Amino acid sequence: MAAFCSAMRYTEDQKQTADLIHRITETSPYGIKGFYRTYAWKKKRMQILARDRHACQECRKHGRYTEAVLVHHIKHLQDEPALALTDDNLESVCKECHEKLHPERNRHKQNFVNEERW
Ligand SMILES: [Zn+2]
Ligand SMILES: [Zn+2]
Repeated sequence: MAAFCSAMRYTEDQKQTADLIHRITETSPYGIKGFYRTYAWKKKRMQILARDRHACQECRKHGRYTEAVLVHHIKHLQDEPALALTDDNLESVCKECHEKLHPERNRHKQNFVNEERW
């Protein structure tokens, strides 16, 4: 387990990951989201789901078992691209928990649902 101190020191691998993401952000038509299409991410995602036994780690904190469908970056990709492929920064979560972890996206959705047209 790597301990992160406030004066972040990245390993060589992490620096390379950050470089990769900067390159993707500049060149991919999907911007930073192009990262999710890389082989490196697909492989890492499978590893994390296997590590967490496909169980949502947020639900688990509340003693519930829910199948995880995606892998979340605890420190967001945009904020800490160097940690994009670091195990300690990744957790398997279900869709519902993932929405709670990203309130910025959730707000969008709620506006949509609350919009009454009739
Ligand atoms: Zn969950
Ligand atoms: Zn996420």
